[in-house]
Amino acid sequence: MTSTVSGGVEALRTAMGGAVLDPSDPGYDAARAVWNAAIDRRPAVIARCSSAADVSTAIGYAQATGLEIAVRCGAHSMSGASTVDGGLVVDLSGMRDVTVDPQARRARVAGGALLADVDAATQAHGLAVPLGAIGHTGVGGLTLGGGMGWLTRQAGLSIDNLVSAEVVVADGRILRACADENAELFWAIRGGGGNFGVVTEFEFRLHEVGPMLEFGLLFWGVDQAAEALRVVREVLAELPRSMNGIVAGMSAPPEPFVPEQFHFRPGFALMLAGFGDPAEHARVVARLREAVPPLFEHVSPMPYVALQQMIDEANAWGRHNYEKSTNIEALTDGVIEVLTEHVSLRSSPLSIFLLYRLDEAYADADADATAFGGSRIPQFAMFTVGVSFSAEQLVAERNWVRGLWDAMQPHSLGVGSYVNGMTEQEEHRVLAAYGRTKYDRLARIKREYDPANVFHRNINIRPA
Ligand code: FAD
Repeated sequence: MTSTVSGGVEALRTAMGGAVLDPSDPGYDAARAVWNAAIDRRPAVIARCSSAADVSTAIGYAQATGLEIAVRCGAHSMSGASTVDGGLVVDLSGMRDVTVDPQARRARVAGGALLADVDAATQAHGLAVPLGAIGHTGVGGLTLGGGMGWLTRQAGLSIDNLVSAEVVVADGRILRACADENAELFWAIRGGGGNFGVVTEFEFRLHEVGPMLEFGLLFWGVDQAAEALRVVREVLAELPRSMNGIVAGMSAPPEPFVPEQFHFRPGFALMLAGFGDPAEHARVVARLREAVPPLFEHVSPMPYVALQQMIDEANAWGRHNYEKSTNIEALTDGVIEVLTEHVSLRSSPLSIFLLYRLDEAYADADADATAFGGSRIPQFAMFTVGVSFSAEQLVAERNWVRGLWDAMQPHSLGVGSYVNGMTEQEEHRVLAAYGRTKYDRLARIKREYDPANVFHRNINIRPA
């Protein structure tokens, strides 16, 4: 049960091992910043937790003093779910320890760790957890919603590899959730987001990966796009399980490997990672190159940790962002037509859409084994992100994102999509993502563990 710390913030400072910040502290402004600069909120209290006991104390304090709670790991939430005006932030950013047991092939990851923390610790043993594609994303939010990235085809989602978790629930208890302890809670946190409590430790199964892999990026201009994407479609359909490809609609970056005349030119990139036989990767790259010669390419072996940080800078903190996601079954001619038209309609060269391939291990997983909101048929998850340097510029990018999302709907698998790609709480989309049966089960579990909906700053499941 929650401890009964209440009263002024001094009482919380005394009760917690970690630091507690309020607006009078010099570090407050830095501590309240989140990844998306479009979000500018002023919490009353930021509780920098250093243990599960701290988390329990902070949750109890917030409830005793009537403060709304936000939980923060990597602070990547587009909508700013991990911060709150006038409320209390349970800030896990000081809890980033990762412990690897290479014999048992398990990693214990503290609830505030970033993907890069996990990659560094596991790769020291040639092992990895399937996570997302950007190093400064939080393991917490990413995992609780599902978690997809370069390893999804060969090893499934992050939640498919979660073995157990330590969870601080709304009444302050610190529980272990796994297949044979609090099994319903364990089911719910694998896809149901932060609705059920604060996860202070994740235990993951590890896979042998790298440390080196083959990487290739091929970039085609808009005038080549229809032809190139049809070849990409064929290649992705036949891709061995040891490879993965991400398709991006973007502007050519001003990188050293891009000839200057192509800098900022709109087009399409296919990024191909090969974790198996290098010759296999070379064959796929050659096939693409010969079918439709790209404007430029970058093909090279690279360490897995470098792949995991390759687009960190392109997704840096401090920009204004807006996102919508959708799922499509295939790169049909109709889809290709929409993508080709809309890639040229962006005002900002930073705006981008990414298509993640979800098949093989993703599709092999039992859809009912976890609460994941989405079907397990082979498909693409499409993330469309409008990015700008100012709030004024973001208006046009937001319109671009919405226009592309609308145009994709006739081709999509429905209005429901990956909950981690939802910017806003749109009830019909949340219900469609989970489906009625899963949603009702989640709502019953929510009633058991968080009947007052204390953890509601997320894609919210209302208690049944
Ligand atoms: P936060 O803002 O800290 O938290 C997000 C939500 O999760 C909040 O509701 C928060 O309360 C809750 N939460 C976080 N940690 C905990 C915890 N320990 N216990 C309980 N609740 C918690 N997704 C992918 O699957 N693959 C990708 O490759 C990928 N790339 C991305 C790249 C960028 C640049 C961005 C912005 C997002 C990306 N995402 C990706 C989506 C990402 O998974 C979600 O934004 C996710 O919520 C981020 O988690 P976080 O911990 O960084 O965010």
